[in-house]
Amino acid sequence: MLQLSKTDFLQFSHCAKSLWLLKHKPALYEHGIFSDYLQKIVTEGYEIEAYLEAHLSLQSDADKYSYQTVFNTKEGLFAKADCTRKNEDGTINIYEVKSSTSVQMSGKKNQVKDATFQKIVAEGAGFKVKKIFIVHLNGQYVRDGAIDADQLLTFSDVTAEVDKLISDTRSEIDAALLLLESASIDESSCSCLALTKINHCDVFDYFNPTIPKHSIYNLPRMSKKKLFNFVATERFGLDEIALDEVTEKQAPVLRAAHLKAPVIDHEIISTWFSRVEYPIYFVDYETYASAAPIIDGARPHSPIPFQYSLHIKMSPDDEWLEHVEYLAEKATMPIELIEHMQKHIGDAGSVVSWHAAFENTQNKNMALMYPEKQKFLQGLIDRTMDLEDPFKEGYVDIQFQGSTSIKKVLPALVPELDYSGMKVASGTDAMEAWHRLVGLPDGPAKDELKASMLEYCKLDTLAMVRIFNFLEELNNRS
Ligand code: SF4
Repeated sequence: MLQLSKTDFLQFSHCAKSLWLLKHKPALYEHGIFSDYLQKIVTEGYEIEAYLEAHLSLQSDADKYSYQTVFNTKEGLFAKADCTRKNEDGTINIYEVKSSTSVQMSGKKNQVKDATFQKIVAEGAGFKVKKIFIVHLNGQYVRDGAIDADQLLTFSDVTAEVDKLISDTRSEIDAALLLLESASIDESSCSCLALTKINHCDVFDYFNPTIPKHSIYNLPRMSKKKLFNFVATERFGLDEIALDEVTEKQAPVLRAAHLKAPVIDHEIISTWFSRVEYPIYFVDYETYASAAPIIDGARPHSPIPFQYSLHIKMSPDDEWLEHVEYLAEKATMPIELIEHMQKHIGDAGSVVSWHAAFENTQNKNMALMYPEKQKFLQGLIDRTMDLEDPFKEGYVDIQFQGSTSIKKVLPALVPELDYSGMKVASGTDAMEAWHRLVGLPDGPAKDELKASMLEYCKLDTLAMVRIFNFLEELNNRS
């Protein structure tokens, strides 16, 4: 008999077919972004559980609590409660740990539904559940020295909300058990065909193998109605769609697909370049955010910049390019980083970033933390230009697959520069690497990790310079 755990049940709630594939054909289940997201939630949960245990161990009734309590039922349900309390009347309380800063009661991340699953399984295993708590984080907590679990954790009693969901959740569990028993399902397609790319999970391609590489899912800002029409007429390839069927914003991607060549709007590119002022400062930040803050002064989940890379291009024919970098080696707030930037970024000239809203959000947050640096940081914001912008409609290549991410644009325009084989190759890797770095003693392991982190961030700004040069040359020729 296949078991149904809480994680399985959550996956079933998202999508029944994907759970069936995972359980019946695990070797064919490709784990990607969707699985990484679930893994991140699980890992953060473990961290908070440790604080809960530390907190409860100091209470007068500490001996009443157990951790990782397992419940099994004859019908194949399996649950592991983060914490349980044995009450004097023979009942138990269940404590579900979450890394969020409030209880989520609806939508895809409905935590009360998780708790309801736990209660149903615990009672199916013969326990009487008196109360259920969701233990989440206090979003106002500011770390000051060692984590104060008493201040960090918030206990929300969701017993009444859970009771309201029992009947619906029981029906859903029955449907999930029935699905697991099915030896086969229709694997020839899945319902996300009628949903935009952002809704597709890791196994969309498995269930829809005939969807061409350049498909309707590459069109930006797709409305439900338009997508529905294309799906209803079974037209998935961009070569099956006519120009008068798409919006102005979608047209460049479609034209690039039809032409099998880049679509260039010289006016858009030239307008963008008309605002560029030398010297140009290409800037990229890396930030760290965690459920339980690791830096004094930080709140749960607040992003703190810990690294930046800067390439400076003094003039159009500057091939030398000055490079400056900073990486905090201790878990500290970013005052040193700001002062380091102040030494290297002058008062005049454009500041160029990719998807600059991210860098500017950090600038705004840092200005709030350090009012004395507000003038400098506001100056950066005012001078910032987003290199992603010209790729929205000014230069569109079907090789970008409808995306304007630098990870898609770079390999098409500057194929000799790439991130493959790097030990730190994404923002998430950089975050994890920094968490390790600040805990390492000085020595070769720390030096090696530091070098990988610097190499990654440097490539981010070098990639921007090379893409900028490509576009500038194109602009000069037109
Ligand atoms: S892409 Fe298919 S398998 Fe994945 S969530 Fe959507 S419907 Fe389910």
